[in-house]
Amino acid sequence: MTDFLEKIKQHATMQPDAVFYEVFYGEGESVSLTWGELWRGAVRLASWMDENLKTKTPVVIYGHKDPIMIVSFIGSLLSGRGYCPVDISVPDDRVKGIIANLSPELIVCAGEEYESEKSLSYKKLIEITAGGKENISEDKSISGNDVCYIIYTSGSTGTPKGVQITGDCLDNFIHWGMTLGSGIGEEERPVFLNQAPFSFDLSVMDLYLSLYSGGKLHVLPKKVQGDMKNLMESLKVSGANIWVSTPSFAEVCLSDESFGRSLLPEMKRFLFCGETLPVSVVRKLHERFPGSEVVNTYGPTESTVAVTDILCTPEVCDTYDPLPVGSIKPGSRLLIRGEQGQSLPEGESGEIVILGDSVSIGYRNLPEQTAKAFFEEDGIRGYRTGDKGYLKDGQLFYQGRIDLQIKLHGYRIELEDVENNLMKLNGVERAAVIPIEKEGKIVSLTAFIIPEEMPESSFKAGQALRAEARSFLPEYMIPKKFVFLEELPMTNNGKADRRALLASLKK
Ligand code: AMP
Repeated sequence: MTDFLEKIKQHATMQPDAVFYEVFYGEGESVSLTWGELWRGAVRLASWMDENLKTKTPVVIYGHKDPIMIVSFIGSLLSGRGYCPVDISVPDDRVKGIIANLSPELIVCAGEEYESEKSLSYKKLIEITAGGKENISEDKSISGNDVCYIIYTSGSTGTPKGVQITGDCLDNFIHWGMTLGSGIGEEERPVFLNQAPFSFDLSVMDLYLSLYSGGKLHVLPKKVQGDMKNLMESLKVSGANIWVSTPSFAEVCLSDESFGRSLLPEMKRFLFCGETLPVSVVRKLHERFPGSEVVNTYGPTESTVAVTDILCTPEVCDTYDPLPVGSIKPGSRLLIRGEQGQSLPEGESGEIVILGDSVSIGYRNLPEQTAKAFFEEDGIRGYRTGDKGYLKDGQLFYQGRIDLQIKLHGYRIELEDVENNLMKLNGVERAAVIPIEKEGKIVSLTAFIIPEEMPESSFKAGQALRAEARSFLPEYMIPKKFVFLEELPMTNNGKADRRALLASLKK
């Protein structure tokens, strides 16, 4: 058994009646799960998997933040199988792509149904976890070298890439994660907040740190996040003392005046990852939550959530703007590489390369893309992030991307992924997508479409494409604006000239 599974078992044995997981849906509606229910349910599901499955292929777990999703994650791990969380917001075409890439033997419907002959229905899942057999051998659970979870991220070809994280990668991340800020669980029982869906690796931070520390996870479902009144109410009843989110989400909350110490009296620590943390956000948090710690962390899904951290004190905010993303965690290493692959000295900017035990073993069934991004040096795994940055005073400074990947409202998007999917739509011959920035921050996407036939009304044609795109792309990847052109301006090397496209909008 991996160290973190041992720890989860210990907590469940010591405090079976304590609540581990709670979801507040608003208007008095909520659901919760105790530590005892989590462990028993997971053991029963693992027994069922042992008896009924022929292979150890990772299991797809489909749902949206239902407590039974967590039972299914742990159940899969106990049965020696990795899992792949798929949120219901992932459009059908992409779910099919994930299933085709993964070839799972089982799709667990964790609170939501997914129609497939491989599916274990929600009803059956409840039956198994509520009263099934409990005869598992713990030796069968995943070990350090096994794939523990697979998270799919945007891929430039238009098909998502499955990042495979092993038990050792996760153990490694958790041990370091427990030391963030002044350390987790030092003063009182940690109550974490969950913002990200489980199909994004940011959720690994709140889920596994709350599991490992024997704490509680207060979960914000999509419905609540989309309604400020409900959101503030949910935060009020959460008792949360550790915040985990993208900076964008904190900015949304900060736009509400009630977001402060009186709403979250216990809040001690804000942990951020996934996109640039503006100094202004840190300052506002210090102001509204006096005495709290704000920690910036950095890392791609491919290196297990995050690999650098810095405590953003008022002094750090006075010294740096933009803020550094921090220093590398023990046991990992950062390199800055130039265009010829040479290591660059301190202060020079180049591609950020991460080396160490928390680097993934590669993308699922994508050998070419794995070979492009991952490598091994003296037995140590490395990952070329595609991020640009430099090192100074032992700190890493992030300077954007060297390719066409962007972050929009905290979501990772390959522009070519959007383009390739737009080209699947009716009447689209070519598509080019550019990010639109406001005050230095990407706020939306604009798509330039070369149609087979120029539409009479660009507005109506744009609406139709947007509607059709929902079958292929998640909502956050759908461009806000569609512009129809006779032809695309091209660069000398035959690519869409994004600079010219952006300039054309300003005319
Ligand atoms: P994801 O795999 O979704 O976590 O996205 C990883 C990418 O998000 C990284 O490669 C960076 O481009 C960006 N990112 C992550 N953390 C930070 C941060 N603290 N500041 C700026 N960008 C970040």
